[in-house]
Amino acid sequence: MWPMLNSPWARAAAGANTFDADSGTVLPTVYERTNAAAASAGAVNLGQGFPDRDGPQWLRQAAAEAITEPDVGPTNQYSPGIGLPVLRQAVADHQARRYGLTLDPDTQVMVTTGATEGIAACILAFASPGSEVLTYEPWYDSYGALAALAGAQLVTVPLRAPVFRPEVEALISRISERTSMILLNTPHNPTGSVFTAEELERIVAAAAAHDVVVMCDEVYEHLVFGESAHTPVLAVPGAEKVALGISSAGKAFSLTGWKVGWVTGSAELVNRVRGVKQFLTFTSGPAYQWAVAQGLDDDRGFFDENRAELESHRDLLVSGLAAAGLEPTVPQAGYFVLADISGVTDLPADEFCLRLAARAGVGAIPVSALTGQHEASAELDRLVRFAFCKDRSTLEQAIRRLSEGIGRAAA
Ligand code: PMP
Repeated sequence: MWPMLNSPWARAAAGANTFDADSGTVLPTVYERTNAAAASAGAVNLGQGFPDRDGPQWLRQAAAEAITEPDVGPTNQYSPGIGLPVLRQAVADHQARRYGLTLDPDTQVMVTTGATEGIAACILAFASPGSEVLTYEPWYDSYGALAALAGAQLVTVPLRAPVFRPEVEALISRISERTSMILLNTPHNPTGSVFTAEELERIVAAAAAHDVVVMCDEVYEHLVFGESAHTPVLAVPGAEKVALGISSAGKAFSLTGWKVGWVTGSAELVNRVRGVKQFLTFTSGPAYQWAVAQGLDDDRGFFDENRAELESHRDLLVSGLAAAGLEPTVPQAGYFVLADISGVTDLPADEFCLRLAARAGVGAIPVSALTGQHEASAELDRLVRFAFCKDRSTLEQAIRRLSEGIGRAAA
């Protein structure tokens, strides 16, 4: 028999709640499970966060031309491991224009295969075996998997309903000699919270005082609504010594399948992450990198249009969920609304989601799939995540089905 529980794959799967200890097998991720349940029930799927509609045609055209036109853009062969120079420059320029950051594109920007690879490389670079990795809960599922893969233990502090503000003192109080990293995510998936500059500053200062690396996942940076504003971690005083920012083109351009991400930070920290990344994928597809560089240089108004549309879809879904008897919170950013199901059912959220797909025809994700086991789990277990990055007609159909079928799902 294989040493299952100690093998990296089993640790990673267990860290993301996808390991079935009874059978010793890895289950699909919660997103794949929800997609499958929704598909087999013919449900409107508000589970996984991907848009119904692809991002800009001109951007897709740029990628297509880079592949088929020998005189346009890069070749189709391996790009440099650290990423195409044109994309690293575009990332540096984007960070300078938007946030006033100064980054050397040759040493302080590294391209990754989606933010997912950036997250993996950062955690494997800094989370030493036996150490603790601190994060807020619920978390993006790869954090748990990668901390486990690194042999580290995930220590979490809950973001509490209904406002989901990061309790900074609670996080800082959990820093110990064993802490190797803090994983932040702002704008936050799934709560939609946007951390303030002041909150980030306090966390970074505490991390610096304890020699702890801060990884900040900022993939929703372009999807912030209303008066809220995104602060990249690297804009915070002192961050250059301890922090790495991660972002990606997927959410920014509604092209989640493209998997082009980047890691930014001091030359020293980025170099450490590069040490891992070069043996994960080595390099990513040049055509997508080439196109993303053009989009970052000039988004042709897409960021604003997309944000405005998403905000109106958020409002539509929030009112639809409330009308169906759920208690949604209004997210400041991102793709998702969390809704408390206590008003309609006593069922645990995972069971409710299965019934919601089968009996009401709407796919959604239980927040419990994005949490661990501790005292806040019961509270978080009342929450279901619905994606609003869908077409208006999809959302209207989901809302109709919810209003008609929620009683059947709740029973
Ligand atoms: N971080 C967060 C918080 C996300 O929600 C996602 C995508 N769902 C990712 C990272 C992964 O980004 P990418 O597709 O670029 O790998």
